[in-house]
Amino acid sequence: MNIAFIGVQGSGKGTQAKIISEETGLTHISTGDLLRNAKGKIKEQINSCANKGALVPDEIILKILKEKIKDCKKGFILDGFPRNLKQAKMLNEIAKIDGIIEIFISDEEAIKRISGRRNCPRCGKIYNLFKLPKPKKDCLCDDCNVKLFQRTDDISEAVKKRIKIYHEETEPILKLYPSVKINGEQAIEKATKEIEKALKNLNK
Ligand code: AMP
Repeated sequence: MNIAFIGVQGSGKGTQAKIISEETGLTHISTGDLLRNAKGKIKEQINSCANKGALVPDEIILKILKEKIKDCKKGFILDGFPRNLKQAKMLNEIAKIDGIIEIFISDEEAIKRISGRRNCPRCGKIYNLFKLPKPKKDCLCDDCNVKLFQRTDDISEAVKKRIKIYHEETEPILKLYPSVKINGEQAIEKATKEIEKALKNLNK
């Protein structure tokens, strides 16, 4: 089964994708993480777009994604792709998508959440300074005990730009696939339960 999680930045799609991936064995593919972890010459080009909150050119992302998809035996959960109609079209040429889980939060909530978001550089766990999951010790990862960092594109101007791009370019792809809308403002566990149920229905 191949699924895409779609939602504005801060909606919790990364957190939910990680949980569902552990439960189901579907590979969690975060294009943002793939780009942040890219090595070599391409890295400079990626950073010059990503740090401003702009999208990285489709050719770059598609090349990295194609490589990753090859390894997914059981299927995958896409997190951060496709982000526009052109990417959806390119995706249809390399894989079949069974459906979309749309995780919805308001723009105000997205801005509030992203400004408090902190990441662990070692295990990738995502925390929030203002809401759960909060780090137990100030700005340290609970598991690795290393200092958490704030992504450059989580800073105010870049966030507003990313939200605008989401509404204008990403939302239109919802009508291309069967999709289920999940309230991303409820407790994480409740949203997970709804996603599990939605996946069962999409898989029928
Ligand atoms: P994310 O972690 O999904 O919020 O992505 C962080 C940044 O990576 C975005 O602001 C973009 O610059 C870049 N990025 C991630 N996914 C894509 C994509 N599908 N197409 C183009 N750029 C992307």
